[in-house]
Order: sequence, then C-alpha cells, then structure tokens
Amino acid sequence: MSYKKFFPYFKNSDITYLDSGATTQKVQSVIASELEYYTDYCANTHRSNFGDANKATIHYEESRKYLQKFINAKDSSEIIFTKGVTESINFICSSFAKNFKTVIISSLEHHSNIVPWHMQGRSLGDGLEVVGYKDNFAFDFDEFERILVKNPNSFVSVTHISNAFGTINDIKKICAMAHKYDSYVLIDGAQSLAHKKIDIQDIDCDFFAISGHKTFAPTGVGAVYIKQELLNRVEPYQTGGATIKTVTYNSSTLLDSPYKFEAGTQNIAGVIGFRKALEFIDEVGYEIIEKQEYRLYEYLHNELKKISEVVFYNTTKETISNKSFNIQGVIHDDVGILLDKQKIAIRVGHHCAMPIMEKLEIKGTIRVSLAFYNDFDDIDIFIVALKRAIKMLKD
Ligand code: PLP
Repeated sequence: MSYKKFFPYFKNSDITYLDSGATTQKVQSVIASELEYYTDYCANTHRSNFGDANKATIHYEESRKYLQKFINAKDSSEIIFTKGVTESINFICSSFAKNFKTVIISSLEHHSNIVPWHMQGRSLGDGLEVVGYKDNFAFDFDEFERILVKNPNSFVSVTHISNAFGTINDIKKICAMAHKYDSYVLIDGAQSLAHKKIDIQDIDCDFFAISGHKTFAPTGVGAVYIKQELLNRVEPYQTGGATIKTVTYNSSTLLDSPYKFEAGTQNIAGVIGFRKALEFIDEVGYEIIEKQEYRLYEYLHNELKKISEVVFYNTTKETISNKSFNIQGVIHDDVGILLDKQKIAIRVGHHCAMPIMEKLEIKGTIRVSLAFYNDFDDIDIFIVALKRAIKMLKD
C-alpha cells in the first residue's frame, strides 16, 4: 500500500521527494489541525481562562501526554517542548551539561551536536572527546570505554541515527556503558522517530532530543525528554512569562517541570499538530514503517551497486533511511543540479557533518533520504535520472 495519499504534497507536486532526512512531508491531519487551531480556537495557552484559551491549553497538554506515552516516558513532566533538536541540545548544553569537565561525542555527529560544545569553550582534548568508528561506521565501543575510564562522570552526547550515512548506533549499550562510569547521556534523536520505535525506559538515556519536522509534523516544534530524577537538577536556559510561580521586584520563583522550561508563548499549533503526526505513526505502525524502509534501502543499495562509478562509504548493515555515496570523477554538486532539473529532490554536500567528511577526505556526498511513504517507483525514477546525469557529466 502507498501512504503518499495521506500527504498532500504528493498530490500537488511532481517531484520525486528523497530528502526526508532534511525534513519530512506533512500528514494531512497535521495540516488540518494547524488550520483548525488558527481558524477555530486561536488563543494563548496556560494564561487566560476563556473557552478557546482553555481548549488550546487542553490540546497542547494532550500532545505532551501523547508524546510521553509514544516514547514510553514515565511522566509527562519529563517532556519539554522546544523548537527542534538544535534547541533541545543547546538547552541541555548550556544548562545541565555545562558543569561537566568532559563532553563525549561521536565522529558521526551533526553540527547541532558539535558547535554548541565549541561555543562552550571546548575543543578536542580540552573538554571534548570524540569516539571514532569501526568498519561500516560502527560506534567504537572499545575507544568509548577507554575515554570513559580516563574521564568518568562525563556528559555523553551522541546521535541515534546518522543523518549523513544512516548508521544506527546501539544507544542502549552506549547508555549502559556511560552509566557504568557515572556519566550522563543525551541522545540526538533527530533522525529516529520517523523510522524507529523509541522506548525511553528501555534505552535508559537521561536526555533524548526529538525533532517534529523530521517526524511528519510542522517545522519549529520538537522536544527534549529529561529523566524524572534529573528534572530538579536541570536549570532553565530561558526564563520569562509562563515559567513562574511568583515574581517580585526582588526575586522570582519558578514552576515545576515542564512549565519552568517553556518560557514565553510556544509553537502552540505546531505542538498540537505534532500529536496528529504521532497518531498517524501509531495507525500505520512501526513494524510496517521499518519493514518498508529496510526493503527500500536495500533495493536502493542494490540498484546503485549496478552503476560502476558509484563509490559507497557503508553497506546496508545497521543502517536506515539515509544513503550516501559519490560518483567517481564527478563533483556531487553537479549531480545535484542535474537531478533537480529532472525533478528529483535529494541533498548533496556535507549534510551538516563537516568533520566526518574531512576524515573521509571528501567534500561531501550525494544523499538519498527515504521515509516509509517512498516506493520502489521513486527509486527507479531516481536511478534513471542519476544514470542520465552521470552520462551528461562524463560525456
Ligand atoms: N541532529 C541531526 C542528526 C540532524 O539530522 C538534524 C537535522 O538535520 C539536527 C540534529 C537538527 O535538528 P532540528 O532541525 O530539529 O533542529
């Protein structure tokens, strides 16, 4: 069954969309719920007491509860809405994590999980450690343990799924190892929720950053899960309206979580819409989503393998959604331009992961990024267009 019919973009566009790692298309019910909020009951939340304001607050809080259950968090106070993973990481970086002598990341991180640490004055070997990888970009647990032995009580911040190469990290094992050395773990889940079931209690991470717009929901909405035991140890990094119990000219007292962390007017429509995206995933089911994605990924890999000029960086083992490659003797940007002319949406470049590109001694890659609404026809169309582009660039 094709799920494209639930996404209005596919009705209105003749583009073959293969850039879901950048942002996913939005479900009809998500768009309808945003429209409904703005046209039927637009009011601020957690402030006024009239009907529409109460309705907006109820829907907003229902989204929080839905997300809590969706990821199997213990309590809704553990769910803080943000504008996305970038804000979630910046929040924890400039709050809880700032007090740790050492922050440990992996070599496959997105700039969102590198630059905030640099801004905190950390650099390689001076407050920041980077775990390398083994074959097929597998997280190097031996090196991780060596770093933890030298630096117990660190803050670990690693991606679940690589946006550049689709590698899936064993985050449960990362958390267990980090906890053994009294360290805390934040998981960058930007590329996770659209593709894989997340069970927070099973993973046992301390923080988990979520992106709405990469999960079929509106842009400008995301969340960070904070483990209940840590809620009182995490300081808000922004304060203001809606975070307080009392304010005098002399001092302020803050509300409990999650409210003390959500300063100012939030992306109310986005949060409400986010729930609709999660409901949609529940209706489809992760089993179907994962099965479809693995089939597509393997098919894509096998079709690319037939093109002799394709240079791969990793295989299909422990990878999902994002497939990166290059064409021998051809600049990736040129491929991007020629594919765009043929109405194929893919991304070329460093994918906000410059350090790993540097390590591989390349400027960037051609990335095909799949979601479960893609089908085999999309891949066939892409392969024909890619072959045409290669022919034009090589002839
Ligand atoms: N982390 C990873 C792995 C990503 O792929 C992205 C976006 O591409 C981000 C972080 C930033 O996420 P957001 O757009 O929700 O801020």
